[in-house]
Amino acid sequence: MKKEHNITLKGISASSGIVIGKVFLLKNDDFMPTEEIYIPQSERAKEVLRFQEAIKNARAEMQELRSKINRTLGANYAKIAEVHFLMLEDPLMTQKVLEMINSGSKAEYAVDKFTKDIVKTLEVESDEYFRERVADIKEVSKKIIDNLIGRKDRKVLLENIGENKIVVAHTLSPAETVVMKEKFVLGFVTDMGGRTSHTAIVANGLGIPAVVGLTSITSNVEPNEEIILDGNAGLVILNPDKEVIEKYRQEIKNLDKATEELDKIKNMSATTVDGHNVEILANIENPNETNLVLSMHAAGIGLYRTEFIYFNRSDIPSENVHYEAYVKVVESMNGLPTVIRTLDLGGDKLTESDVLHLEKEKNPFMGLRAIRLCLKYPRIFIDQLRGILRASAKGKINLLYPMVSCVDELDAANEVLEKVKTDLRKENIPFDEDIKVGIMIEVPSAALISDILAKKVDFFSIGTNDLIQYSMAADRVNENVAHLYNPLHPAVLRLLKMIIDNGHKAGIKVAMCGEMAGSPFYTPILLGLGLDEFSVSIVQIPRIKKIIRSVNMEEMKKLSDEVLKCDDSSQIEQILKGIKFSEDIN
Ligand code: PEP
Ligand code: MG
Repeated sequence: MKKEHNITLKGISASSGIVIGKVFLLKNDDFMPTEEIYIPQSERAKEVLRFQEAIKNARAEMQELRSKINRTLGANYAKIAEVHFLMLEDPLMTQKVLEMINSGSKAEYAVDKFTKDIVKTLEVESDEYFRERVADIKEVSKKIIDNLIGRKDRKVLLENIGENKIVVAHTLSPAETVVMKEKFVLGFVTDMGGRTSHTAIVANGLGIPAVVGLTSITSNVEPNEEIILDGNAGLVILNPDKEVIEKYRQEIKNLDKATEELDKIKNMSATTVDGHNVEILANIENPNETNLVLSMHAAGIGLYRTEFIYFNRSDIPSENVHYEAYVKVVESMNGLPTVIRTLDLGGDKLTESDVLHLEKEKNPFMGLRAIRLCLKYPRIFIDQLRGILRASAKGKINLLYPMVSCVDELDAANEVLEKVKTDLRKENIPFDEDIKVGIMIEVPSAALISDILAKKVDFFSIGTNDLIQYSMAADRVNENVAHLYNPLHPAVLRLLKMIIDNGHKAGIKVAMCGEMAGSPFYTPILLGLGLDEFSVSIVQIPRIKKIIRSVNMEEMKKLSDEVLKCDDSSQIEQILKGIKFSEDIN
């Protein structure tokens, strides 16, 4: 049936910009063959061989994984791989699958059927141990089926797109998004996801438009069909007609012109009309981004998300891998400061490809993430701290701990840091003895004790991406609760005010590196609340600068006082929409 023209799907704008292009449909990894195909007697021996070959390959893959974990994390952590390995060896599975093949089933169908039957039995078990094995069984079964159908890793597919395409997927992990970085991807759209998911943040860093949370776009498009991706409005238009394409082409031209205009203010200072100065810095995920940072005249790097070093590699990065990445960054920053955040793995930054192979948690965002993970596995933390400290002898580095939720955690992290410093001194390895140490304020408990924490650190950096999700109890990657994820909720604004005031009372600077800092709509209120530094995705730097240069600080202070008295976010939004800028900001 012919598709109607201009079917418009509304999602969540994750990264701005507009593109028109052809669809690259990235299939789900969890597809399983459900169709039963009858295999004649004469071909069954061949089918048995295919199955045995698949088991052999899956076994080799698991063996490699097991020894890798053994090597890097120790025998205790190889437990999960061990369980999978045992399942592959299970004679019951082999026997049942072979029986089915010998009565005419295709191997992949037989493996899938066996898995479903056993999962059905286990899911109703009262013993939790058995219920928990369901995920393991599914994973092992998927590995065998991957081998049977020759399914390629999604990353391999993404790396080989080869032509300018718009990637359409049910969901994309941050690690997959990083792979797209060097390639010719025009933009991407996903069924799932929220505005501050790390997948969206990477898209922002790449400067490619993205729309997430479209619910069912993957079932509404065909590979290679032409679509329009409007990252500004959070829209995707299917089967656009000539007029709509023309309208969008014009819009793209206007956007290009606006970008040229912004280019002109790149090297000007971030100073308000009445002479108040703030700093604008850049967020990076990759050491190769420093050229772009410098070209935008950023005052430095306000957040280097070092966990990206862990993505798409098969071993845990050594001290030297860390060191080399950080030296590369600081040496190219020509003396400008770089805030290096220690590892923040966990939450939505833990995918099947991550090298730690930690057990899946029920609530990853509330679980073993960031500083919690580093304190539990000190070896990982120490290697990173040594890398950072050694690099601090080569350029200006400030150290930042993520996800701190109480004083004890900060003290424990500092204890490790002091030990690392002592070791380096003993080894005569130079580092910056005055390295500044700050914490992210991104958990409500930390915000509420920010008066205490401020006395123990050199600076704060507010992580609104997490602060909002934890304050509102609204998962930042879940499109179903995106309406609750609101930076203008009075509770969020009160927390921001509290953090900034407490920081200033203790005489320390307060920065913000969450996405709220990079969204021009919130710039006036953040200025009014007294924020000292905005650390934003590189492409947003001139836009934020333009807003700062168009407002009066005294007026913004009054505006923030007024806003803090409001009962709800819609009232606040109206006030922000009514701001008069000294020049046209569009
Ligand atoms: C934040 O939470 O606002 C932040 C900057 O950290 P991340 O997005 O990496 O969690
Ligand atoms: Mg965070």
